[in-house]
Amino acid sequence: MLKKFLTCFSLLLVLTCAATVQAKPAELTGINAYELDKETMRIEISYRGGRLNDSDISSDFSLESMRLEIDNALPGRVSRVSGIQIQPAAKSLIDKIFVNETQKKHTSIQINFNSIMESGGSTINLEPANRAEKKDARIIIDVKKFVAQDNWSSENFSGEKIIVLDPGHGGSDAGAIGPTGVTEKSVSLAVSLKAQKLLAASGYQVVMTRTTDVDVAAPGVSDATELQARVDKAPPNAALFISVHCNAFSNGKANGMETYHAPTAVKGARLARLLNEELERLGGLNNRGVKAARFYVMTHSKCPASLIELGFITNPREEKLLASDDYQQKLAQAITNAVNRYFNQGGFD
Ligand SMILES: [Zn+2]
Repeated sequence: MLKKFLTCFSLLLVLTCAATVQAKPAELTGINAYELDKETMRIEISYRGGRLNDSDISSDFSLESMRLEIDNALPGRVSRVSGIQIQPAAKSLIDKIFVNETQKKHTSIQINFNSIMESGGSTINLEPANRAEKKDARIIIDVKKFVAQDNWSSENFSGEKIIVLDPGHGGSDAGAIGPTGVTEKSVSLAVSLKAQKLLAASGYQVVMTRTTDVDVAAPGVSDATELQARVDKAPPNAALFISVHCNAFSNGKANGMETYHAPTAVKGARLARLLNEELERLGGLNNRGVKAARFYVMTHSKCPASLIELGFITNPREEKLLASDDYQQKLAQAITNAVNRYFNQGGFD
């Protein structure tokens, strides 16, 4: 206890000394976000007054947002709306920017993305002031965009269209379990195997992430490893990726089906909408709609992807339906119809 106190105390001394030597803080003068190239968004944070070093800046990136912590800096005019400029091309990428002096002379900048960004590919550099160009000193952040399904075109590939079916869960992971013990992994597999037959009969090549009750990666691995193993089952020229699941909720009254796509995926959204329409046409279940979400298999698939929740396995009525061979066959037909419509109506651009 005493030792800990001393350590804290000496650390405090160092900090106090450092503070006395510290020059006057930098004052932020503007944030400018624009599209640098097709893959990169650039965010420039300009400042005057004090000088910033690499050690003043720390960052935390995720797929959806980034946070910048800047020591020895005041928010200045960028804490007002007029201090932030987002160029039109970058507006689709940035949702909101928050700038706050969270501690004395310490500014935090939170940038929420509209689009999925590649957290690994980002860089931060410091650029000195450029008098000739009348530019203040800048913090330059380059954020890589996630190469989404929408850059993908089937016209690059010839031959049979390849459909990837991903029966959710399996092996050590039962998924959700219904009141009488029906497992999500068994329903997702049964429906996918039936859809495999129907799609093959319609002339598609079908790739299954699993055809039996197994973990696709291995039992006990992390979710990301298991889900990446499923994404990796898709050949590079796959046309569509469809992940099949059942919903679950603590309250057994929750009911209905829904379909998902990745937030910025236009083609994925079209696939999700067609799947939703075909599932609704079965008529048995409440339609909870088409939704955007950042499910791993959708945000990591290179081709248009959708995840479907066939119904609530935790709802006694829907559990019974989902377990019935007849209803599973109808679900498989609905998936096949949606895929057919995807390619026949409007096709691809
Ligand atoms: Zn599931």
